Amino acid sequence: MGDRGARLSVPSPPNPAAQRAPGPWDTGKGGFRPVDGWVAGCSAWLCLGYVARKRGNGDNCACNGARQIESDTLEGDVSDNSTPVPTDLLFQRDSGLRESLATVVAVDEATRGVALDRTVFYPGGGGQPNDIGEMTREVDGRAWPVASVRKAGAVVWHELGGEDSLPAVGDAVLARIDWERRYRLMRMHTALHALCGVVFRDYGALVTGGNMGPDRARMDFEMDSAEFTPERVAEIERRANEELRAGREVRVRLLPRDEAFQIPDLIRTKINLLPEGIAEVRTVEILGLDLQADGGTHVGNTREVGTLRVVGTRSKGKANKRLEIELDDPAEAALDGAGGGAGG
Ligand SMILES: [Zn+2]
Repeated sequence: MGDRGARLSVPSPPNPAAQRAPGPWDTGKGGFRPVDGWVAGCSAWLCLGYVARKRGNGDNCACNGARQIESDTLEGDVSDNSTPVPTDLLFQRDSGLRESLATVVAVDEATRGVALDRTVFYPGGGGQPNDIGEMTREVDGRAWPVASVRKAGAVVWHELGGEDSLPAVGDAVLARIDWERRYRLMRMHTALHALCGVVFRDYGALVTGGNMGPDRARMDFEMDSAEFTPERVAEIERRANEELRAGREVRVRLLPRDEAFQIPDLIRTKINLLPEGIAEVRTVEILGLDLQADGGTHVGNTREVGTLRVVGTRSKGKANKRLEIELDDPAEAALDGAGGGAGG
């Protein structure tokens, strides 16, 4: 949408007060604080926090939260000696940011890793791949491809491609993500949450795992073979698309730990396994359908997702079934509808 993807032009080094611009994520109680890798991905897999309007059926939620916490922690546990300052995770507050000015705070020559004081790059987690993009030094316009991004503890490392010498600590850079790819991932991530919401609301089925790429995603959930019929799959697809077309707002919030613990739907899931040190919990809610503790990036409204298509199904066990999905772009669909389908 037009108002998404604005360039962040806050000068570096960051002004802590300026970073706390009011927003839906701002609880007014201490603002945002980067914490460890747990909230950087979908906290416990896609389905921690199932939600929502489903009542009376909630105590059977078993979203593998503990296992996911463990894997997420291990995933981010790359030791570094210099221990740079925690990275301000701009994407957590505004998934529409495509670029930001930042200051280099650490450089790891061995891995060609560069840490910034703030970043719009999603480092991966919760089934959503890391962003890629470009980093340009302000003083001389020199540019490096950002080939990969990872999070170690509270620090996001941007791994630069090529063989040129790296920027230096203190350099001001403009870091820009591959927005076309990221936006596809945002649409896909929201699509999976809508799917999660529908299979739980209508069938009481819990998600056991999943993964996504820009073009395709899969989601595994608990359902008996006898129930996993082609008719049921078609029904899930139809109902998920009804929810997407309904234009539901997707709302991101950062809640103080104590406040998050008061939300019955989150308590019932694995939020109580949050490590002690985590002061805030990020939640992603598709209003009226789904609420999860989640660190990923999402579109602002389900209409942006487009249409979901189930392109494959698989039985992964007696009570574990897989759906593979792709998305049709809403803009492309509109073009097709107008008789001007551009294809490819
Ligand atoms: Zn998620």
